[in-house]
Amino acid sequence: MKTIYLDNNATTMAAPEVVEEMLPFLREYYGNPSSMHTFGGQVAHNILEARQKIASLLGADHDEIIFTSCGTESDNTAITSALSNNPGKNHIVTSRVEHPAVKVLCENLAQKGYRVTSLPVDPEGRLDMDEYEASLTPDTAIASIMWANNETGVIFPVEEAARLAHEKGILFHTDAVQAIGKIPVNMKKNTIDMLSLSGHKLHAPKGIGVLYVRKGTRFSPFLIGGHQEKGRRGGTENVPGIVALGKACELAAVNMEKENTYVRALRDRLENELLKTIPQSKVNGTRETRLPNTVNISFEFIEGESILLLMDQFGICASSGSACTSGSLQPSHVLRAMGVPYTMAHGSVRFSLSVYNTAGDVDAVIKELPAIIEKLRVLSPYWATSQGTCATA
Ligand code: PLP
Repeated sequence: MKTIYLDNNATTMAAPEVVEEMLPFLREYYGNPSSMHTFGGQVAHNILEARQKIASLLGADHDEIIFTSCGTESDNTAITSALSNNPGKNHIVTSRVEHPAVKVLCENLAQKGYRVTSLPVDPEGRLDMDEYEASLTPDTAIASIMWANNETGVIFPVEEAARLAHEKGILFHTDAVQAIGKIPVNMKKNTIDMLSLSGHKLHAPKGIGVLYVRKGTRFSPFLIGGHQEKGRRGGTENVPGIVALGKACELAAVNMEKENTYVRALRDRLENELLKTIPQSKVNGTRETRLPNTVNISFEFIEGESILLLMDQFGICASSGSACTSGSLQPSHVLRAMGVPYTMAHGSVRFSLSVYNTAGDVDAVIKELPAIIEKLRVLSPYWATSQGTCATA
């Protein structure tokens, strides 16, 4: 059975060109870039090349790029660095729809005595910028707002948010893990201080991330140890991962437009057909400012998990908006923050596409999903009640 992979916001396939690029660094050039001998030292040059490619995609300088192990490490580093460089300030501004890499860290910091403002979003998943501005106070050390939401694809006005933070002398960080490679980002045209990205979301392998730190930003390392990354992140460099991410960024620069046209067209067809053929279905998140590859749809009165299991029988991979917490299914914090009703939030499915998807992949979902939903609704007592009939099982 063919795998129809529509879960690219969870992780992506490493591009074949990326794999080719990294293999020599596993097989032949496995030396430590910090070694004195030529065998090790030569790969330092390849790291620099990769750094330049990543910087070029971001419109950054290569020495503003710090390699990390993942998006989570980058997010943790940015926020804790801002706090340690602003010892007199104990307030953090963030949103209720951040990835756990920011959300759980902030909850943890709140337990340690920091004051955290988690801004609400509207039913379309958007931030109220007046409320954001009002939340920035003299004791705010950092504002951290994601560039694009991983569950809904909603894009936030982070460049404007950075500008407002700077007016009050506050550092601004963005978790751009879902944005990089999908929408154009140019750090020369904004004032964002720190930005996180993760290789495995843009066709590089897992285990490599980047924290962009604007020149002149006061910074404290999170991982303390060796002098790697000019003392900004201890630990021997993941050379194959770094080289791979360099290649992935080079490809992203070329494919971005394709992503914005080809992938968007596939996504739009999927979305429009599903909404047309499946009653009581609704898109979560504004359709105006959304990543071109993402659609999150709620199918009322059924559970996302059941939909995933039945789609899996056809090789279709997607994600649901629920998580198993304390033995029961809980709708995601993102959908709850948007005020999506429980009967809708439970039945949400996220489809996230990539340049490797085909029209055939979308056709398969359009063909199979309406029958899957119908089958599950027949079994759902809530659906039966809503239709004024009895469930058959
Ligand atoms: N931030 C966002 C928005 C994400 O979607 C993810 C991963 O899903 C992360 C952070 C964490 O990235 P990583 O898996 O590289 O730690």
